[in-house]
Amino acid sequence: MAEGEEAAVLAWMDQALDVAKEALEKGEVPVGCLLVYNGEVIGRGRNEVNETKNATRHAEMVAIDQVLDWCKQHNRDYKEVFPQLVLYVTVEPCIMCAAAVRLMKIPRVVYGCRNERFGGCGSVLSISSDDMVDSGDPFECSSGYRAEEAVELLKAFYRQENPNAPKSKVRKKDRRQQPYTDGRQKLTKNDT
Ligand SMILES: [Zn+2]
Repeated sequence: MAEGEEAAVLAWMDQALDVAKEALEKGEVPVGCLLVYNGEVIGRGRNEVNETKNATRHAEMVAIDQVLDWCKQHNRDYKEVFPQLVLYVTVEPCIMCAAAVRLMKIPRVVYGCRNERFGGCGSVLSISSDDMVDSGDPFECSSGYRAEEAVELLKAFYRQENPNAPKSKVRKKDRRQQPYTDGRQKLTKNDT
């Protein structure tokens, strides 16, 4: 990736991280994303699972709905808009969201840290690249952008979840439950 392009990607990821921080403040798993169309953010989503009591309200699904609304408001055909989007998301899309990205024909995804438990872009399944009948086309993935910051937010969330647990127990629990890594090394290695 060229230097200028990398700087632009990092700037989008910073914005996605800001959205993830909002999720943390609202007591949601801190994942944030943007859907960018010709350099303009037309979808912005964070986890809303607890708030809505709907386990499918992941950041990406929220942002996809926003783009559909945008298309209606601007009288645009979603079938022409989605194939020109880039998804910037702080954590590797899960299997469900990766399938949604594929079905909506979003061609490019840039994400931060890996999702070792549910990741659909190589960590658990490879929805992003597999050949599948009648399920859209594979999409391009780039990863590792602002991964450490994304992991830090997730760690902060899991710490909040166990505020009364003794420190050693919190740490053990974190290790067992923490499904996210920065893609280069396991979280447990520097979780001291
Ligand atoms: Zn998801």
